[in-house]
Amino acid sequence: MILDINKIRADFPILKEKVYNKNLVYFDNGATTQKPKQVIDTISEYYSKYNANIHRGVHFLSNFTTEANENSRKTIQNFINAKSEKEIIFTKGTTDSINLVAFSFGEAFINEGDEIIISEMEHHSNIVPWQMLCERKNAKLKILKFNELGELKIEELNELITNKTKLISVSQVSNALGTVNPIKKIIEIAHKNNVKVLVDGAQAIQHLKLDVQELDCDFYAFSSHKAYGPTGVGILYGKEEVLNKMHPYQGGGEMISSVSFEKTIYNELPFKFEAGTPNYIDNIAFAKALEYISEIGLENIEKYENQLLEYCTKKLKTIENIKIIGEAKEKSGVISFIIKNIHHNDIAILLDQMGIAVRSGTHCAEPVMKHFGISGTVRISFAFYNTLEEIDYFITSLNKAILMLQ
Ligand code: PMP
Repeated sequence: MILDINKIRADFPILKEKVYNKNLVYFDNGATTQKPKQVIDTISEYYSKYNANIHRGVHFLSNFTTEANENSRKTIQNFINAKSEKEIIFTKGTTDSINLVAFSFGEAFINEGDEIIISEMEHHSNIVPWQMLCERKNAKLKILKFNELGELKIEELNELITNKTKLISVSQVSNALGTVNPIKKIIEIAHKNNVKVLVDGAQAIQHLKLDVQELDCDFYAFSSHKAYGPTGVGILYGKEEVLNKMHPYQGGGEMISSVSFEKTIYNELPFKFEAGTPNYIDNIAFAKALEYISEIGLENIEKYENQLLEYCTKKLKTIENIKIIGEAKEKSGVISFIIKNIHHNDIAILLDQMGIAVRSGTHCAEPVMKHFGISGTVRISFAFYNTLEEIDYFITSLNKAILMLQ
């Protein structure tokens, strides 16, 4: 075994909880992950001992917490290997990060007739902000399609790009299909054509090692809560030279260096994009989550989660009338499936009664469902605290549920 799962599981208090008197099997990690006690304790410790608003005090607590917030930024910078901490902007989450770019990059660089490309497998939060931008600017949204396995038709990208294309926004890992997209290749093609790239890393940051300098993406967005950190925090990474050309998305305290009624001067990076009191205690706790992941090692996590994925996929394929939605060669720990003539919600409800938390529905990716002509799927998504035994229990429970529903 690559990981000491018992030791890891002991760090996550919720995993000892029972639901309906059954051991909790938590297979809904794509929606949000559970938190280790190191993260929970940090939040409690900071509220108990160090709470004070950051950046604007001269007193001990304010200075202490300001430093901790800025150290967290450095931890995050190191985690993704960004060149400078100025490139790490604290946001509310992936959705907020994408909206920031859609607004600020959109205001600076998108004009009437320009084109933005997204893929057919995007989460709604990587679709709607671009639709809103296109509506504001009279620009055009173009879609890179995927094949029946759920792999992007990357060979069509060159044809989609024109001299009007300004930005490609694409997920690294699809939350509905589990596909790991060839983002390095996409970025290479985009840059050859002078097109910037935003990567939605909401489902990737917790599973795959990231080096933004090596990847050479222009923006990278992710959420803390999907990576073992608290809710309400996310990151927008952006290359300093691009961020410097963008105006702030929101006005308020912190994002200014001086204000008068005649003229306001914006603060420098990263603060010019962080209007208002930040969620500093959760920012600090997020860095703890990333330290926790680093200690286990993302390479080990990836290997172990791939074992879970392969084991579970193999077992699922033995079930009659099952169809796995998304069978890309490169997948991360997400499996979407349907069972012929049984509604996905009914399966999820029965699994819940057996203590197993799975997701059912469209997974905020309605175009993916439309592609396959289905109304939704059951989705299981793994974390490194899941086990092969949990998968065995899940398969037995799923078989029982199918029998009851047939
Ligand atoms: N993109 C992807 C691929 C996601 O899976 C999610 C969350 N399900 C988001 C974006 C949005 O993340 P958040 O709700 O944390 O902003």
